[in-house]
Amino acid sequence: TRTFHIAAIPADGVGTEVLEAGRTLLDALAADSGGEFAFEWTDYPWGTDYYHRTGQMMPDDGLDQLRDVDAIYFGAVGAPEVPDHVTLWGLRLAICQGFDQWANVRPVTFHPGVTSPLRTIDDTSLDWVVVRENSEGEYSGLGGRNLAGRGPGNEVAVQSSLFTETGCERIVRFAFDLARTRQRKVVTSVTKSNAQQHGMVLWDDVFARVAADYPDVEANSCLVDAMAARFVLHPEDLSVVVASNLHADVLSDLGSALAGSLGLATSANLNPERRTPSMFEPVHGSAPDIAGKGIANPIGAIGSAGLMLSHFGLHDAATRVRDAIDATTAAGVLPADLGGDATSKQITEAVLDHLETAR
Ligand code: NAD
Ligand code: MN
Repeated sequence: TRTFHIAAIPADGVGTEVLEAGRTLLDALAADSGGEFAFEWTDYPWGTDYYHRTGQMMPDDGLDQLRDVDAIYFGAVGAPEVPDHVTLWGLRLAICQGFDQWANVRPVTFHPGVTSPLRTIDDTSLDWVVVRENSEGEYSGLGGRNLAGRGPGNEVAVQSSLFTETGCERIVRFAFDLARTRQRKVVTSVTKSNAQQHGMVLWDDVFARVAADYPDVEANSCLVDAMAARFVLHPEDLSVVVASNLHADVLSDLGSALAGSLGLATSANLNPERRTPSMFEPVHGSAPDIAGKGIANPIGAIGSAGLMLSHFGLHDAATRVRDAIDATTAAGVLPADLGGDATSKQITEAVLDHLETAR
């Protein structure tokens, strides 16, 4: 039996509800694997409650506690009474950046039985992967507030972006390698290099140089504002979309909305060299407006567990998860964010049932 040690960090709001769903599914798959694989869980009660008790989102040695696990399964951070930058930097970004999870992979796919807000879409035209640079760019953390001694009423703040040639090159190569494994071998790079003439021009230059190494993959570039429109108007000509930390963050939420809802969207924060654990999480946040009601859409979290299975090399199990999700939506078992009335639990149970039939 191959045993995978997973750190569960549900954190805040609906994060705890949807992680429970994904975990139920993973345990069911392991129990059904005939001894092929098993999961050993460790729970970390970090997040906003922990912050209220200790003044920190996770302990000082948090990363050391996680360093030897095979993967991290993460819910979401954020609570109305604490500034979002405190919760985000204190836990999620601390893990992503501390473990150099530099590639954030965010598939955008269509699920049968789900209505896209795009009237013109057919179910084959939405099959993208947004590849997000996850270690630098606009989320470098560089800058400062209250600079030059200018205080309240006259404050000055600087928020700097950091672009390194190494950082640009590794994410761009990752995108091309990923495109090679896909049916449509196309990479579209997104920047705003007309207005941001330093870092984003470096990105463009690296993209052009790396593209020359992949003559079998079609390469093109697009400015981010135009790309937002293209997502809506021409979803059919995209496959892999690679962009900086901020732009890909925004575009992947747009993509998931086109697929039906933010609640569907999956995400893997990878350290592709596997020097440190990678982290799997739904794209959405803690959704305080619906937390505690039992109605959160668990599909993003369940699908992210599927990405974790692929990361472990358990490809058959990952396919079963994808198929079971599609069978559930196709059968019309939909949560409130997709216009249905199924609870998180009912959806999880439907996915479990379809795991059985998919066998
Ligand atoms: P959000 O993703 O939490 O919610 C946006 C909207 O989508 C809300 O209407 C919410 O009800 C809905 N939604 C989100 N997930 C859903 C699900 N699983 N099922 C059904 N509906 C769902 O984003 P927000 O409202 O901008 O932020 C709320 C908090 O989450 C903030 O504190 C923010 O900083 C944090 N946040 C955290 C992460 C993360 O941990 N990765 C990501 C984004 C936002
Ligand atoms: Mn986001």
